Amino acid sequence: MAFPPRNGPNDVVAEPAVALPWLTMDSPAPDDAPKRYLVRTFGCQMNEHDSERIAGLFEADGMTAATGLDDADVVVLNTCCIRENADNKLYGTLGHLKSVKDARPGMEIVVAGCLAQKDQDGIRERAPYVDLVFGTHNVHRATELLHRSRAEGPLTEILEATVADDHELFPSAMPARRELGHAAWVTIQIGCDNSCAFCIVPAVRGQEISRPFDRLVDEVEGLAADGVTEVTLLGQNVNSYGRDLTLAARQAGGSGRVRPLFAELLRAVGAVDGIRRVRYTSPHPKDLRPETIAAMAETPAVCEHLHLPVQSGSDRILAAMHRGYTAERYLEKLAAARAAMPDLAVTTDLIVGFPGETEDDFAETLELAAAVEYDSAYTFIYSPRPGTEAAERVDEYVDPAAVADRFDRLKVVLERSALAKHEGRIGRTEEVVVEGPSRKDPSITTGRTGQNKLIHFVSPDPLRAGSYADVLVTGAAPHFLRGELVAVTAGARHRTRIPVAAG
Ligand code: SF4
Repeated sequence: MAFPPRNGPNDVVAEPAVALPWLTMDSPAPDDAPKRYLVRTFGCQMNEHDSERIAGLFEADGMTAATGLDDADVVVLNTCCIRENADNKLYGTLGHLKSVKDARPGMEIVVAGCLAQKDQDGIRERAPYVDLVFGTHNVHRATELLHRSRAEGPLTEILEATVADDHELFPSAMPARRELGHAAWVTIQIGCDNSCAFCIVPAVRGQEISRPFDRLVDEVEGLAADGVTEVTLLGQNVNSYGRDLTLAARQAGGSGRVRPLFAELLRAVGAVDGIRRVRYTSPHPKDLRPETIAAMAETPAVCEHLHLPVQSGSDRILAAMHRGYTAERYLEKLAAARAAMPDLAVTTDLIVGFPGETEDDFAETLELAAAVEYDSAYTFIYSPRPGTEAAERVDEYVDPAAVADRFDRLKVVLERSALAKHEGRIGRTEEVVVEGPSRKDPSITTGRTGQNKLIHFVSPDPLRAGSYADVLVTGAAPHFLRGELVAVTAGARHRTRIPVAAG
């Protein structure tokens, strides 16, 4: 499943479209000074994680982080092609960068990520001042390619598939410059073997490749030793993690079954000393197995939160999307998860206005959403992604006015259940990991509950990010909780920054 954005529905993480407050003219580093880089990320957690790795590779190569565009010698745009208007955002941003580069000819512009993978030579055809374009399969060569572009001139290198070994292949196995010390993402798998009709991910990220089990556990042990207490396992379809590993083992003469290893991975990572919280994203409902539900229920560190993207409540639309399950099957799996974990928060992704969606189809989506009573949901208005099967179904595109009306009606149902779920937490004491002072009101502390709910609470003293605290929930809104500190239960253990960590 494509990752939901971290900042909310229909949002693009971390990056403006074309209004760039970071654009001013200033002097770059002198020739003998270390070059300074700036990485701007568009898109999902996988892209953010790739950006951490690009930054880590640059730092391992002697570069330092710029404070902004003012002092950046190398600007990397790590692009996403999943969100709407990705092209416009990229080329709008590049247009602004061109004016900076005109004033500072030594500045280097790099385009990486999914859109680079998809558009390939097209990027430098439209923006010839770009120095380097590389795709999703050669992030591990970012510094080498940058050196080559300096020596040989502008360069585009896109690999159609990954050919590197584990250490180079996976973002988590490369040097990292992690931004959030107490929590870390760990890529367990790249690519996707599914073929959802609306999704460009398989085309730009390739087939599923799982990272070896032992190396993942080793990495989490290393993170825990550095004070990380929360890990989020990342993959496009985490439930199928390890299927390729067991297949390869059998082809090599082994006798085991071809099967996913995700449940074992959850248990192993959850057992690492010092790891208090394990999250994962994203699972595919068709691959959610009883073993995974059991592992979640029986591993205390695994958080009581399941993000299970349903996309539609209509079997006809689910079939057109090639999702591989019916609404009934989805509800059965969810019921099994809730039976095993009664205090489970459930979130989802929903697409409104998929080509061919009728009012009856949408009524089934509303019915499913009301029946499930989600804690929250990312809702997306369908927008065609060139290169996907659904985008070809132009004759079946749904009238935008009808889609907007459906979107609003769905939002009412989802917000009603979110508020009810949040109100149900009032009076409970929840364990919260502190994220820091609230951006809107620094006198308020912000954190996350185990169910991944945002909570704003009052604390008599400032609390360091990464601390754990018991917080009494005193109020609720559709998108957050309010509370009061009861007690700090554990201080933060991480260093302020993990500068460079090799996997
Ligand atoms: S093809 Fe389907 S399962 Fe794979 S990443 Fe896209 S939405 Fe997720």
